[in-house]
Amino acid sequence: MSLSVNLSANIEQAIRAALPPRERYALHEPAFAGNEWDYVKSCLDEGWVSSVGAFVDRFEADLAAFAEVNYAVVCVNGTAALQVALQLAGVRPGDEVLVPALTFVATANSIAYCGAAPWFVDSSAHDFGLDVAKLRELLVSQTRIVDGVCVNKQSGRPVRACVPVHVFGHACRMDDLLELCDEFGIAVIEDATEALGSRYRGRHVGGWGLASVLSFNGNKIMTTGGGGAILTNNAELARRAKHLTTTAKVPHAYEYVHDELGYNYRMPNINAALGCAQLELMGEFVRRKRALAERYATSFAELDDVRFYVEPATHESNYWLNALVLDAAVVGQRDAVLEHLNARRIHVRPIWTLLCDLPMYTACQSDDLTGARQLAAATLNLPSSVELCP
Ligand SMILES: *Cc1c(COP(=O)(O)O)cnc(C)c1O
Repeated sequence: MSLSVNLSANIEQAIRAALPPRERYALHEPAFAGNEWDYVKSCLDEGWVSSVGAFVDRFEADLAAFAEVNYAVVCVNGTAALQVALQLAGVRPGDEVLVPALTFVATANSIAYCGAAPWFVDSSAHDFGLDVAKLRELLVSQTRIVDGVCVNKQSGRPVRACVPVHVFGHACRMDDLLELCDEFGIAVIEDATEALGSRYRGRHVGGWGLASVLSFNGNKIMTTGGGGAILTNNAELARRAKHLTTTAKVPHAYEYVHDELGYNYRMPNINAALGCAQLELMGEFVRRKRALAERYATSFAELDDVRFYVEPATHESNYWLNALVLDAAVVGQRDAVLEHLNARRIHVRPIWTLLCDLPMYTACQSDDLTGARQLAAATLNLPSSVELCP
């Protein structure tokens, strides 16, 4: 048996040992075990399926309570939520926004939608998140403050915001990052799309920065079919988020008056109904996903050449997607492992292509990305559905 066959077979065995027997294992499937049918049916029965209805208000209130923030504004998806949050943070055409290269493409796309350019920074193996120490070096050496605004020395453009991403549900070091960004006058918008239910130093993610963003896409920890939300503790920002995502319509009994360029980014009531039901299950979802991660950790503990990623002591993660990191010595066998597992109907997939390597972003400025490149080459996501753990 060749070495890679050996490694693949060992990984397969460890995965199967952690999971209940199934014919196939999806990467992540939604679970509908609560009031989903009832709530959606009531939308249909009462005719409130679109952009007006009681579930939208209820979902926003329940979500804010769950995420421990003052306000939640729901909308069509996480990408739209990011775009609006960035605009509200003052990001304008010609600005630059710091963002890890190791994230889903939507994080950078939302920056581009604002007419701004991503400036790609490195990630840390500590939590898959933005490497705060390296970001400090970058800001100190490559920016200067001009009239209170942080400016990129090379491009001459304002560095308006930073978007940390809580990758796979593991929070970034938000305390250190906020301190750094405060020093440089840079707004922080958390991409918490993967991290509902995750905590850092005891505090739920999403309430650290100026605003944050959630996604309720079908593959996230809970789903509304499609959907997103902007979270904030700032009343004025929440009011503006609602206004911009509802075509900037001025409330009036019958007149159509829109006082600025807004968007039709409202979440339909029928999706919010699904959201209310799913949110009732979130405590249970997080508990089960954490239990699944523990099973994987036990199962992989004795296996050489790989490390199952376990949260740092400061974190309490939702383990949205479980991650297995190959040691440097066996990184060359990654594709053989992927082929072996997927051929056996165990859906395992590599992490994202670094965004700076995608055609629309190759011209953007990048810091040294050694950490992100290593993680991208070595990391596999394992089946992580809630139903895989009792
Ligand atoms: C899912 C996701 C998004 C986008 O959310 P959508 O609701 O699919 O638009 C953005 N960033 C990250 C890191 C994500 O995983």
